[in-house]
Amino acid sequence: MGNSLAISGGPKLTDREWPRWPQPGTQALKSLEDVLTSGRWTISCAYQGQQSYERQFAAAFADYCRSTLCVPTATGTAALAIALEACGVGASDEVVVPGLSWVASASAVLGINAVPVLVDVDPSTYCVDPAAVEAAITDRTRAITVVHAYSAVADLDALLDIAQRYGLPLIEDCAHAHGARYSNWPVGVFGAAGVFSMQGSKLLTSGEGGAVVTDDPEIAVRAEHLRADGRMLRRDQVHVGEMELLETGQLMGSNECLSEFHAAVLMDQLDLLDEQNARRGKAANHLSDRLGELGLTVQSTSPGTTDRVYYRYAVQLPDELLAVAPVDRFARALTAELGFPVMQTHRPLNDNPLNRPSSRRRFATGTAYMARVEPSRFGLPAAKRIHESVLSFGHEVLLAPLDAIDDIALAFGKVIANVRELSD
Ligand SMILES: *Cc1c(COP(=O)(O)O)cnc(C)c1O
Repeated sequence: MGNSLAISGGPKLTDREWPRWPQPGTQALKSLEDVLTSGRWTISCAYQGQQSYERQFAAAFADYCRSTLCVPTATGTAALAIALEACGVGASDEVVVPGLSWVASASAVLGINAVPVLVDVDPSTYCVDPAAVEAAITDRTRAITVVHAYSAVADLDALLDIAQRYGLPLIEDCAHAHGARYSNWPVGVFGAAGVFSMQGSKLLTSGEGGAVVTDDPEIAVRAEHLRADGRMLRRDQVHVGEMELLETGQLMGSNECLSEFHAAVLMDQLDLLDEQNARRGKAANHLSDRLGELGLTVQSTSPGTTDRVYYRYAVQLPDELLAVAPVDRFARALTAELGFPVMQTHRPLNDNPLNRPSSRRRFATGTAYMARVEPSRFGLPAAKRIHESVLSFGHEVLLAPLDAIDDIALAFGKVIANVRELSD
């Protein structure tokens, strides 16, 4: 009579140790010691005779993204807010925001006193739906943001076409997509600016961190000022003991600088990124073949994608299974079998406890503004359906050997074969 699934008291499918994240490389300790003894822990301390790690990382990451300019920032949220402001977005302006994303997609817009306009996503790529973007544009729209979500690249051709026709800057949020390519070109430089997060869960990380990349020197200079209290890095020769940041006062900013410790760790991690992305890609392809055989629908990406990277692996359950039990029960059953967290995707931003501007006094600038920023005024049926049918897990799992990846497929097969144990 006994139960078969681990969640109902049966044996787990595997006791394997899964890879953990983040993983230090070989250079980090030496570089961190170098920062520690250098006398300069951030670019807003005096120059000490060697190029800052922040400048080294900015150059290396611009190069990696095949962009000309990179302004590192303290977080990805800061990078997004700075990119928007550097593109001229401000108080009361509307910004088009994907409805299925981390809360930062909305909070960064709110943070510059603008209004997030949530739009629905494509049911197969989970990225913003270009038709929904176009339908959301009004005469108050000042920018379009796109997230390359989980493991997909959004339909950039269609989005760039819309941005161009309406004369709006497109800002790519690449927090999930370090190293992904579209038309053989790295994401981040298709629109006016690209933003990255280097928070601890991301494919390239220093615990906290971010960056804006752009080919537009005016956007870059504004981003520099915005992240360093209205200062920009001097372009002329600096001497030991002098400040490298110049107080131009051209544009007021805040302190959102990336510290030297973080930049040193990012230099170490950047060396590892391509090899890790390749390994994750191989594992994901292997898993997708196996899960397809089980009748599951793996997240797809836009046709223009030439290199896919996996921040989260995401796969959709068919209606027959969801009729037996809700998606979160499958998530818990798989977590119990495998020993790593399998989860739902983000909660849509129109119904997400983290996206609640009314809970924050700073947004109480009048009833009209409060009504405009109220997330529940938007409908996001495709995002809701994805949230209620898709399972996902983190990229570190894909760094496991292929026999471990087979165990993931076996766990899905086991849960599906015993799905009755999940029903009420
Ligand atoms: C992580 C993330 C961010 C914000 O990054 P932080 O570095 O945590 O501030 C922005 N957008 C998306 C889509 C993210 O996943």
